[in-house]
Amino acid sequence: MIVCGGGAAGTELSFAFKQRWSEFFGQEIQVKLICAKSEPVDEECRQTKDQIQRLLREKNIQIITNTTVKEILKDGVILANGDKVEGNVAVWATGAEPQGVTAKSDLAIMKGFFRVNKFLQSTSHPNVFAGGDCITMEDYADKSYPSKAGVYAVREGPFIAQNVIHFIKGENLDEYVP
Ligand SMILES: Cc1cc2nc3c(=O)[nH]c(=O)nc-3n(C[C@H](O)[C@H](O)[C@H](O)COP(=O)(O)OP(=O)(O)OC[C@H]3O[C@@H](n4cnc5c(N)ncnc54)[C@H](O)[C@@H]3O)c2cc1C
Repeated sequence: MIVCGGGAAGTELSFAFKQRWSEFFGQEIQVKLICAKSEPVDEECRQTKDQIQRLLREKNIQIITNTTVKEILKDGVILANGDKVEGNVAVWATGAEPQGVTAKSDLAIMKGFFRVNKFLQSTSHPNVFAGGDCITMEDYADKSYPSKAGVYAVREGPFIAQNVIHFIKGENLDEYVP
């Protein structure tokens, strides 16, 4: 098992596959975690990173750092430097990316995602509201948050629902502060 991407999702998947598939197949499954940065979950604090690395070592999960995957084959992946990492299954967890439908739409786009204002409303089409991984909030485009995370997505939902009602009734919209 090769997990491509050493962020929170890829690291979590490494632990999960190691545990679940080893139980399921009745043998220890080799898991290799490939990170573009010098260590997994690079953006976390030192204490968290140390704890995660300790647990990865304890679980015998191999960490390959400072490299990216450029090709996936049936029997492994090819790294940026041309080296091959062998494995039967590759999982891609390199972060949220815009879908094709987003790029092709005529809605305003920012950083590849639907551009919305503080009301989670499209800046080009006021009758369109959006939230979750598919948006960039224009006022936060230069900030590290809101990240593409479920905790933000679920909090945005009620605002979108309420703002659609406000919009239909011609009322003032509610501001969403992440
Ligand atoms: C392994 C992993 C672990 C994670 N752990 C956490 C965590 O612990 N905490 C956290 O906050 N976040 C976590 N996340 C991130 C979180 O899952 C996402 O940020 C969240 O799911 C985004 O919600 P969303 O509704 O915007 O998109 P999604 O949950 O991706 O839902 C989008 C839905 O739209 C559907 N869809 C796509 N295209 C179309 C289309 N053209 N027409 C109709 N439907 C379509 C998809 O099939 C999907 O069902 C994790 C992500 C991964 C991959």
